[in-house]
Amino acid sequence: MSSKMSMTTKILIWMVAGLVVGSLINTFLSKVEWVQVYLVEGLFQVVGALFISTLKMLVVPLVTFSLICGVCGLGDINKLGRVGLKSFLLFMLTTALAISMAIAVATLIGPGQGFDMASSAASSFTAPEAPPFSQVIIDLVPTNPIAAYAEGNMLQIIFFTILFGICILMIGERGKPLIDLAERLNEVMMQVVNIVMHIAPYGVFALMCKTFSQQGLDLIIPMMSYFGAVALVLALHLTGTLMLILKLLGKVNPLIFLKKMRAAQIFAFSTSSSNATIPVTLTSVEKRIGVDNSTASFVVPFGATINMDGTAIMQGVATVFIANVYGIELGLMGYLTVVLMSVLASIGTAGVPGVGLIMLAMVLNQVGLPVEGIALIIGVDRLLDMMRTAVNVTGDAVITTVVARSEKTLNLDTFNDPDAGIIKEGIHLPHEKPAATNQA
Ligand code: ASP
Repeated sequence: MSSKMSMTTKILIWMVAGLVVGSLINTFLSKVEWVQVYLVEGLFQVVGALFISTLKMLVVPLVTFSLICGVCGLGDINKLGRVGLKSFLLFMLTTALAISMAIAVATLIGPGQGFDMASSAASSFTAPEAPPFSQVIIDLVPTNPIAAYAEGNMLQIIFFTILFGICILMIGERGKPLIDLAERLNEVMMQVVNIVMHIAPYGVFALMCKTFSQQGLDLIIPMMSYFGAVALVLALHLTGTLMLILKLLGKVNPLIFLKKMRAAQIFAFSTSSSNATIPVTLTSVEKRIGVDNSTASFVVPFGATINMDGTAIMQGVATVFIANVYGIELGLMGYLTVVLMSVLASIGTAGVPGVGLIMLAMVLNQVGLPVEGIALIIGVDRLLDMMRTAVNVTGDAVITTVVARSEKTLNLDTFNDPDAGIIKEGIHLPHEKPAATNQA
C-alpha cells in the first residue's frame, strides 16, 4: 500500500488550514499593516490569483479537444441530440426544484422580518446590465469562432466545436488524422490538469487565507436568518434532491458519488467559479465516476454554463428576504414568476464568481422588488457564493452521471472502484512507471 496521501486529502487539509489562518488574521491581525500589505494583498493575493489563472487557462483547450474527441467517438450522431435534450431538461428541472424549495423554506423561516434597515451597513447597489433572453439565443452562434475561444464564451465554443466535430466525421477517412490529433491533445491537457492538481493545495490555501482574512465571520450575525436559510436549503438540495435524483435515475450509490466528487467541490468552493472548476469536474466524472468521454465532454461545460441550482437557491431566499424587509407581498403569481425567471436567467449567464447577483437583479426587476435590496445581502454574498458554487458543480456532475447511465455508458467498475482515477502525490514521467490507476 502506498503511504502517499491522495491529492484530494492534501487539498482538503490545506483548505481548512487556510480557513483557520485567514480567520485568525481577520480577528487578531486586521490592523497590522505589514500583514495586510505583504501577506493578504501580497503573497496570498498573488498565489491565489495565479492559481485561478492556471485553472482558467485549461478550460478552453480542455473543453475543445475533449469535445472533439467526444463528438467523434459517439458513433451515432442522434445520441448527441438525445444527450443534449436530456441534460437540458434535467438541468432545468433541478434548477426549478432548487428554487421552489428555497422559496418554500424561506417562507416558513421568514428571513428579514423585523430586519432593522437603518442599522445595516447597506449603501447602494447598482445592478449591472443583464442581456435580454432573445439576445442569449442569438448569441449561441458565434460570428467569429476565434473571438468565442478568445473570450471563453462557453455556449459558443460548444456550438462551434460540436459542428466542427460532426464535420470531421462527415469527411470520413480523411478526418481520421484530425481525430487522432485531438485525442493526443486531449491526453496532454489531462496531464496538465494532473500537474495543476499538484500545486492546488497551495493555491487553495492562499485563496482561503485571502478570503477569510478579509471576510470576517461577524458579518454573518445580523444576517443570520438569511444566511442560515440559504445554507440550509443548499444542504437539503445537495444531500436530498440531488442524491435522490442520482439514486432514482442514475441507480448508483450517492455516498460513493459524493466521496469521488470531493475534489471538484473543494475547487468550486475555493474558486467560486463553476467555469474555472470545469477541468476538475471533467476529470472527476470521467476518471473517478466512470462517465464516458462523449457524454462528459459535452454535459459538464454545458452544465457549468446553464445549470446553477445553488445560485437559484440564493435567489429564492433573497427574494423572500427582500420582500419581507420592504414589506411587499409577492403572492403566488409573483413567486411563480421568480421560479420561471431564475430558471431562464441561469441559461444566459455563465458560472463565474458573483454572477448570481446579476441574475438576482434580473429576477427582482421582473417582480417589481427594489433592486437596491441587493445591497443588504451583498456583505455575506462572498461566502454564500463559495457554498452555492460547490452545489452548482455537484448538480452538473449528478446530471452528467444520470445521462450517462441512461445512455448505458457509465462504467460501473470505475464507479465502484474506490481508487479509480485517484491522483497521488508526485509527478511521474513514463520511464518511472507509476502504479497505473487512471483508465485509458
Ligand atoms: N459563482 C457561481 C458559479 O460559478 C455563480 C454565482 O452563483 O454567482 O457557479
